[in-house]
Amino acid sequence: MGRPRSVRDAEVAGKRVLVRADLNVPLEDGRVADDTRIRAALPTLRLLLERDAAGIRVCSHLGRPMGEDPRYSLSPVRDHLRSLLPDDRLEVLENTRFDPGETENDEGFARQLAEGCDLYVNDAFGSAHRAHASTEAVARLLPAYAGLLLERELDALGRLLGEVERPFVCVVGGAKVEDKIGVLDNLGRRADTMLIGGKMAEEVASRFPLGDFSVELPTDVVAASDFSAGAEARIVASYDAVPEGWLALDIGPETRERFAAEVVAAKTVFWNGPMGVFEWERFAEGTRVVARAVADADAFSVVGGGDSVRAVQEAGLADRISWISTGGGASLELLEGKELPGVAAIPAISGGAGNG
Ligand code: ADP
Ligand code: MG
Repeated sequence: MGRPRSVRDAEVAGKRVLVRADLNVPLEDGRVADDTRIRAALPTLRLLLERDAAGIRVCSHLGRPMGEDPRYSLSPVRDHLRSLLPDDRLEVLENTRFDPGETENDEGFARQLAEGCDLYVNDAFGSAHRAHASTEAVARLLPAYAGLLLERELDALGRLLGEVERPFVCVVGGAKVEDKIGVLDNLGRRADTMLIGGKMAEEVASRFPLGDFSVELPTDVVAASDFSAGAEARIVASYDAVPEGWLALDIGPETRERFAAEVVAAKTVFWNGPMGVFEWERFAEGTRVVARAVADADAFSVVGGGDSVRAVQEAGLADRISWISTGGGASLELLEGKELPGVAAIPAISGGAGNG
């Protein structure tokens, strides 16, 4: 797969540009609760404004509304974006998922989005794994280009699939076991060590051909009497020692130390998925220790996955990580080796460095 052609190489002066951004941010009481994704969309918009685009129409989905549900209106996002980038040339459309044509990849809806525009820029990495009207169909109607964020994501994640500096250590945890099994397989071939924690660890042993790769599982774990913040908890030496009816909700101190040592010694690190139920302080230490190790490593480090990214940010470690991916599902599918429909729809430049 070649590199998609870049917005940097597009002639935009005097043109009207449709931009698909990923403005799918959390809202609270009708306000933007975390504007990371809005800020991540700014470089491409600024580039277009600086290069004298005549108009920029930004579109995005927000959440998973069933039809036109005002709770999912992009209007708070529009206000926030305008405050960060006040320019009359900027227009923000309403939530693309208000139209059923969006998820159906409907050409009629794509035509509506493209109406009056001269070219299309896809900067929504977080949605690139979906073939939707605003990410795929529309790229067949207008000359299409990759935005700066999309490019940087493809570069950073693509680097993990190429010639990496070793040791290459992958840490995988969290709860979305189904989504992550494919990644284990593709990264397992490339990594020197895979460290598995979280809920993943319980299921992986029985479902994954561990013999093929160098996989390390937790030894000691924090066992809890039930799934609650106030559960009775104690450290046990192994999964087998978890009392009947109890749950393993974090990796134990010995495992934390072993995992951290592997991560700190790495030259390339990928981390996706917390080591425990980090939302509850008593089961947060495993995730915190791993987050610190990823930050401390003198390595090219990439963190992906909404919850892992949140753990890194809460620990104040974000600026010590080489790349924090804005796309959870998209980053996993890319690392699984799949082609992303939103990227495949953009014409490739020939002769560029492949992404694997
Ligand atoms: P990410 O968003 O980083 O990809 P996931 O969504 O897969 O990660 O998983 C995050 C969730 O996994 C968190 O809500 C966390 O509480 C939960 N989790 C982590 N470890 C365990 C565990 N041992 N048992 C149950 N839930 C867990
Ligand atoms: Mg998650």
